[in-house]
Amino acid sequence: MTGPQPRPGIMSIAPYVGGKDTVEGKATVMKLSSNEGALGPSPKAMAAYTKAASELHRYPDGGSEKLRAAIGRHYGLDPARIVCGAGSDELLNLLVRAYCGQGDELLYSAHGFLMYPLNAKGVGATPVAAPETDYRTDVDAMLAKVSDKTKVVCLANPNNPTGSYITKDEVRRLHDGLPRHVLLVIDAAYAEYVSRNDYEAGVELAGKAENVVMCRTFSKIYGLGGLRLGWMYGPAAVVDVINRLRQPFNVNSAAQAAGIAALADVAHADASRTNNDIWLPWLSAELARLGLQPRPSVGNFLLVGFGAQARAEAANAHMMQDGLIPRMVHAYGLGDHLRITIGTEAEVKAVRDSLARFVAAT
Ligand SMILES: *Cc1c(COP(=O)(O)O)cnc(C)c1O
Repeated sequence: MTGPQPRPGIMSIAPYVGGKDTVEGKATVMKLSSNEGALGPSPKAMAAYTKAASELHRYPDGGSEKLRAAIGRHYGLDPARIVCGAGSDELLNLLVRAYCGQGDELLYSAHGFLMYPLNAKGVGATPVAAPETDYRTDVDAMLAKVSDKTKVVCLANPNNPTGSYITKDEVRRLHDGLPRHVLLVIDAAYAEYVSRNDYEAGVELAGKAENVVMCRTFSKIYGLGGLRLGWMYGPAAVVDVINRLRQPFNVNSAAQAAGIAALADVAHADASRTNNDIWLPWLSAELARLGLQPRPSVGNFLLVGFGAQARAEAANAHMMQDGLIPRMVHAYGLGDHLRITIGTEAEVKAVRDSLARFVAAT
């Protein structure tokens, strides 16, 4: 071998591919491939972003002080135990880099978010997938996979791409079964969409356990994916570790300003949630009526079963021809499904109409 060689594991990573945003030959499309908030960003967040333009020569506040204070106020959390990141992806990656290394294992659920195994490979660790039951995290199966090498457990709750969640009691049982030196990362990217009285985003556990962190994002209900903004809340010791490891100016100034404004625009977030509360059950019922298999979802997307991979691929091609972009989920071992973001009324109705034509023709 000649030339520089990367550390072990890195070359086994298949780079993450984001949702498609164009269809050849289509000038306008409906992008339903990345679970971006249906109503887009708050107008107040857009105004704050624009206002930040005249100060772009200034370095951002490296500690995201005002943003952490705003998050703390909004959720009733101690800002000292919050770290902001360039998307929750950055924080999920830093947590793995900090607590997992070569020879270690990172445990996740079989259809869990793809970045978890990729982050594990990036540090030379082994991703270990626990089987699911009915497209849901199975706590007993997870606990059965814990070994001496397990260092980090990643739980997306709700999970992407399945849309399922596990209850507050199940999360607690998972935590109770883990050795205290294992870090449990609860990724609650879709928490704002969930209205179930047996669900808890992770605030409670991350607030009192020394080995639990909760990650959140502004990319979904707040519609700020393009700005890259997320945050984590956890024990002081973990917060200290991540603050040492992160880049000093990891969150740009426009993102900080827009994030503060987005949190303050409660009406916009409520409207986004209401849109989802109406159109998620509607689309789910319509697709079930067509004979498709929408899986129960508490997020802002539906995982839809087509019975066979060839049929899911044909449905994907059919929707693309209608200018609709769903997400193929082969990478999650779900090649016979498509994931479809809940958009606006016009978008979900276009999805229903397109799939009705597809079903009628096949
Ligand atoms: C979208 C998503 C993220 C990433 O969010 P960013 O803050 O944009 O990096 C993390 N976890 C899950 C489960 C997601 O679906």
